[in-house]
Amino acid sequence: MRARTASTSEVSLITRKAQRALRSIKRTKSASVKVTAMSAEKITKSDAEWKNELTSQQYQVLRLKGTEPARTGEYDKFYPSEGHFVCAGCGNPLYSAESKFNSGCGWPAFDKCYEGAVDTNIDNTFGMRRVEIVCAKCDGHLGHVFENEGFTPTAERHCVNSVSVKYVEGACDKKEAKVIDGNSIAGNAQNAMSMLIRPAFYFTIGYTALNVLANSATSVMTHNAQ
Ligand SMILES: [Zn+2]
Repeated sequence: MRARTASTSEVSLITRKAQRALRSIKRTKSASVKVTAMSAEKITKSDAEWKNELTSQQYQVLRLKGTEPARTGEYDKFYPSEGHFVCAGCGNPLYSAESKFNSGCGWPAFDKCYEGAVDTNIDNTFGMRRVEIVCAKCDGHLGHVFENEGFTPTAERHCVNSVSVKYVEGACDKKEAKVIDGNSIAGNAQNAMSMLIRPAFYFTIGYTALNVLANSATSVMTHNAQ
């Protein structure tokens, strides 16, 4: 039994729907990048100044976006009951002691940050979403943020290099928040949708074309036989 061939109007409806979905995904992506580019008073220093002020490991990670080896960081297994963590480059308060949790990943993990303290750079190349986190004040590389892993209610894991931060005692009264807003999380879901829509779209087009060809061949053969 042969499957029913999609009509031309059905194909054009599918095409329009897929195009609409892709347009909406593009709009959401650009909006999320804009929203997460939070502002803070920037600290700008020359490369030579940073090199002079930081240890070579801090320089490698903070300025050259390196990563310390897993399970080697000073704060990997450090869970203070009070205090907070500041940027090792500029002293900007980033994370409370309460936001630190044990993810078992080998680097310090935090489930939220002080509001506006951390900026994100979203990289969607090769169909993979990677979200880099940097200090909003000095742009120092902290690590990456991962979403929806189910560790804590915020559904965020800030995977941070120990050398990028410094623990200080005492409270910081800044409000805490997730770094990725609702739009971005919706964008994330739409990214997943786009990964489903594209193959489904191309499969439908290919399948329909094959059916049309098969139908024409059958009709030619039937015609010839008559
Ligand atoms: Zn900083």
